[in-house]
Amino acid sequence: MKRNFSPAVRWFLSLGILGLTQALSLAKPNLVIIFCDDLGYGDLSSFGHPTIHTPHLDRMAAEGQKWTNFYAAASVCTPSRAGLLTGRLPIRNGMCSDKRRVLFPDSASGLPASEITVAEALREAGYATAAVGKWHLGHLPEFLPTANGFDSYYGIPYSNDMDRVPNKGPKGRAGLMKPESAYWNVPLMRDTEILERSPNQSYLTRNYTREAVAYIEEQAETPGRPFFLYLAHSMPHVPIFASGAFSGRSQAGRYGDVIEEIDWSVRQVLKTLRDHQLDRDTVVLFTSDNGPWLPFKTHGGSAGHLRDGKGSTWEGGMREPTIFWGPGYVEPGIIHEMGSTLDVFATFLDLAQQTVPSDRVYDGGSLAPVLSGKGHSPRQEMFFYHGEQLHAVRLGEYKLHFTTKTEYVGQKPRRHDPPLLFHLGEDPAEKFDVAADQPEVLAAIRALAERHQRSFDPPRSQLEARIAK
Ligand code: MG
Repeated sequence: MKRNFSPAVRWFLSLGILGLTQALSLAKPNLVIIFCDDLGYGDLSSFGHPTIHTPHLDRMAAEGQKWTNFYAAASVCTPSRAGLLTGRLPIRNGMCSDKRRVLFPDSASGLPASEITVAEALREAGYATAAVGKWHLGHLPEFLPTANGFDSYYGIPYSNDMDRVPNKGPKGRAGLMKPESAYWNVPLMRDTEILERSPNQSYLTRNYTREAVAYIEEQAETPGRPFFLYLAHSMPHVPIFASGAFSGRSQAGRYGDVIEEIDWSVRQVLKTLRDHQLDRDTVVLFTSDNGPWLPFKTHGGSAGHLRDGKGSTWEGGMREPTIFWGPGYVEPGIIHEMGSTLDVFATFLDLAQQTVPSDRVYDGGSLAPVLSGKGHSPRQEMFFYHGEQLHAVRLGEYKLHFTTKTEYVGQKPRRHDPPLLFHLGEDPAEKFDVAADQPEVLAAIRALAERHQRSFDPPRSQLEARIAK
């Protein structure tokens, strides 16, 4: 009987013994990031949602590692994505601002060329790279994925609620809650070319998935060369859309439809890896850029047990439902240790057997020892920035808030002196201030914050320059 070896195995066999030894010592996993937009900590069944059904993500979590203390780098899109791709706090490279919290269609700037993205570092290490979906690190040609280490790009370069067409549909919030794709003039791009304006947003998740699956299938044809795929969904960022096959299907309404289509998309990606026998050679990370956009009520998600959502430095703004999957690399389990998208750069370089550049400061470390079940997370602390302001710091189980702000309700930032202190183990919902009982912890975190802020001078923000009219 003819054995049906995978392309990778066929490649190994073709190398002979010497080549095989060499290839094994050089084996680098394929790396995939599936990144959602504004997904809440409580939006998946496996993270406690009672009416959204996510069987494929739940299976992914059961087969891989479900992380319960994993943070996005920031609580809004642009800085969060900058942190994910560079491994550095946005305050270090100007990718945050108090005046304009994200990039807009009139923004003249983007991720500085001097930054090294994980795609650039992996390409240097021999990886093929592709970005599919939302970018939001600059839409002008010199800032697009193709200028930042990705061989190819397909997607919308900023948020799907930008480029509102004047006088089309109900104004403001009403248009967002009863959306039609024609209300937005957003561009759908391939590499640096605009394919169309106002694409049918009902098909975004489906089309991104088609592109991702086609890319994996194409890469399966060239075994021996690892790939890095960054699949960044536009959903469930308001306005939310699902395709016909998912519309009206979820018990959780329109928002549930959208998440269940993302769940389907995850299935397609993992199935494609399995079908091509790439599953044991690949590590997939699923997470989101920031918490749920709560003012949109049933069109925004849920942070579950956690306080507040998108835009805020309360836990609901930055703690994300996170899964690492990779049967050949990831020891299944539930991980309560701390991790962050800021650790992805170092983790992926570690998995690719590369060292992190030494010419700049990084704000993360490798989680690979946790993934393999052989060690612990290097992360003991987390800095929570709101724009350019350090609002909160976590050290171990304790989180201190210098300033709090409930986002999107017009509340001014509230400065706390003494700061608020919560024990996130006993009180993940941040309800019970224990500052008065823990003067030493308070002093230790204050000192940590001071050391951190004294250690560098933030550069000029990249988010404020506008294209001249
Ligand atoms: Mg977002």
